[in-house]
Amino acid sequence: MDAERSRRYLGAMGVPVWRLRAADVDAQGPEPGRAEIAPAHQGDVMASESTEPTNIGVEPPLGAVPDAVPAAGITGADWDRLSAAVSSCRACELCATRTQTVFGVGNRQADLMIVGEAPGADEDRQGEPFVGRAGQLLNLMLAAIGLEREQVFIANILKCRPPGNRDPRPEETLRCEPYLMRQIALVRPRVLLLVGRISAQKLLKTDDPIGKLRGRWFEFGPDQIPLTVTYHPAYLLRSPEQKSKAWQDLLKVTRRLRETAGDPGAGTAG
Ligand code: URA
Repeated sequence: MDAERSRRYLGAMGVPVWRLRAADVDAQGPEPGRAEIAPAHQGDVMASESTEPTNIGVEPPLGAVPDAVPAAGITGADWDRLSAAVSSCRACELCATRTQTVFGVGNRQADLMIVGEAPGADEDRQGEPFVGRAGQLLNLMLAAIGLEREQVFIANILKCRPPGNRDPRPEETLRCEPYLMRQIALVRPRVLLLVGRISAQKLLKTDDPIGKLRGRWFEFGPDQIPLTVTYHPAYLLRSPEQKSKAWQDLLKVTRRLRETAGDPGAGTAG
């Protein structure tokens, strides 16, 4: 993407805009360590944003009984079977409080797959991940690295909204995980980007804090998919001073996508 467009999106994200020295110009953006920082610009989205609620304790009604573990039914499932299995899932108590399941959206042959935590109120209402304020910021983050939302595949650890946006419980993650594993296997992205502490800790099976996990590369699953972690856009809305670190993480993703672009087994975004 051209540098001017990238700068525009960074400005809209509220990330300090790096001015490149002539010798440092790189089509994908500057090396943060070698750049001069110009004053941050708050765009329209940022200016009106507030913090999303977390951990408000609304519990499901008594008697919401899970009735099946999904794993057996979806081994080897194609997209249609997987999507049908998710929509009818009753494997944990979240089925009692959801408006609808939130399967995932985007390019099913994407180079980049993004995994968030769980649907919030907007996603539960619309049936699509990352459509609220955090989603708007995610779209800007993607645009800053030259990607449209439709070019990537976006999914969550949980397919149903935890009441009050509380953290996913271990048994919910366990029951829902096979769906995400099958999605990853079907998309077979060249890079997996986990956004936020919950998705990073759950997928990487660690209690390490996000500050320790972000900015590093891991290999995921039998296909050893390159995986990296960055801050959740909802967190970035609350802590805009961390956006420059998220930008560094995104640049790493861009570089890795570029480096692997010649891989004949890889899908193409877009
Ligand atoms: N936060 C997430 O982690 N996922 C969504 O889909 C929306 C907000």
